[in-house]
Amino acid sequence: MSNDRSIQVVLPSGHRYEIRIGKGALTAVGSTARSLKESRKAVVISDSTVGPAYGKLVKKRLEEAGFETYDLLVPAGEESKSIELATEIWSALAGYELGRDDLAVAVGGGVVGDLTGFTASTYKRGIDFIQVPTTLLAMVDASIGGKTAVNLPEGKNLVGTFHQPIFICSDVRTLKTLGDEDWANGFAEIAKSAMIAPRRSFYEWLRNNAAGLKEHDEGLLEQVVYETAQFKARVVASDETEAGARECLNYGHTLAHAIEAAAGYGTIGHGRAVAEGMRFAARLSVEVLGLDPRIVKAQDKLLDSLGLEAIPWVAPPERLFKIMKTDKKARGGQIRFVLLDDITSWKVQPVADDTIISHLEAWCMAKSRLIEKNGGKMWGEK
Ligand code: NAD
Repeated sequence: MSNDRSIQVVLPSGHRYEIRIGKGALTAVGSTARSLKESRKAVVISDSTVGPAYGKLVKKRLEEAGFETYDLLVPAGEESKSIELATEIWSALAGYELGRDDLAVAVGGGVVGDLTGFTASTYKRGIDFIQVPTTLLAMVDASIGGKTAVNLPEGKNLVGTFHQPIFICSDVRTLKTLGDEDWANGFAEIAKSAMIAPRRSFYEWLRNNAAGLKEHDEGLLEQVVYETAQFKARVVASDETEAGARECLNYGHTLAHAIEAAAGYGTIGHGRAVAEGMRFAARLSVEVLGLDPRIVKAQDKLLDSLGLEAIPWVAPPERLFKIMKTDKKARGGQIRFVLLDDITSWKVQPVADDTIISHLEAWCMAKSRLIEKNGGKMWGEK
């Protein structure tokens, strides 16, 4: 009997689907796809790193379940989220004579998931797709919620759709091959979720198990993917098209986006930037919402114990501020932050420019001290 965990996502539109999480959950991906679809064809879309290992396995399982399969590989990395690659995929699907009833299966991280979701939602005005996330970030965040996207030269995720998968299959055993920065990306979204999720027991559990998670204990990983995915599923179920409640998911992301842009995309990983953004937002929360400073310390400790220590990197405060002004959450020229008044309790709060600037200056001063301690070297410098 399977010991996999299961989450039912039920959306206001009536659409429902299962997220299955387990050690070895991939074994049943073909039979589950078959129970959901009577179709003949399935196209497995993966990237050059994941495809030869996990993509191949998923293809085999689909064949055992009676699907006629095809596979498409895109280069690993963010550059694959492009309209050019989407066009290649649309053409390939047409070449395979995929019908409206057939199936696309994304096997990979958030890049493959976003790209597959986008092409599936637009090919023949929409075909069903399954997500098989293979990064921690994709298991706890990107695969859930139905947001699909490609990037434009003008910016990330500028073209996209809402298209929900019909099934998500997260096999935590696939994580054992992840690189350090990909672990950091997943852990940052998990820590973020634990700070804003309505059940304080999630935060307490994470605090108590951070050391084991850092060592990639499979049982703990299964539990944390379940907890975090359940939280995200509940948030998106209450706000399918991002009209309000989903805003909490941006906790830590206002400064994070500015750091990533100022450093040059790819220089500082998203997870590291989010951890910095959470530290900043918590300190801002003390001034703006009266957050207990002990919570700031507790969050710092949680991030440290997950391997997300503060990084020695700095940019001029006015540069970060200028980028923040273009943040998509800004309204009427005012920057809005997701702030905490307690663990589990958050608000989206417009913050006065002067307050932001003085906090940025304090942040930059602390960073300069950290760089000095690091022998004058910034993050990434040899
Ligand atoms: P990614 O898909 O680029 O994967 C990171 C790297 O890990 C890639 O090189 C990939 O080949 C490799 N990889 C994947 N699985 C692996 C495994 N099991 N073992 C070894 N290597 C593996 O990046 P990501 O961090 O998973 O996702 C980031 C993307 O997700 C961004 O494009 C972001 O915009 C998007 N995203 C989307 C949503 C959403 O709601 N749709 C939410 C968050 C992020």
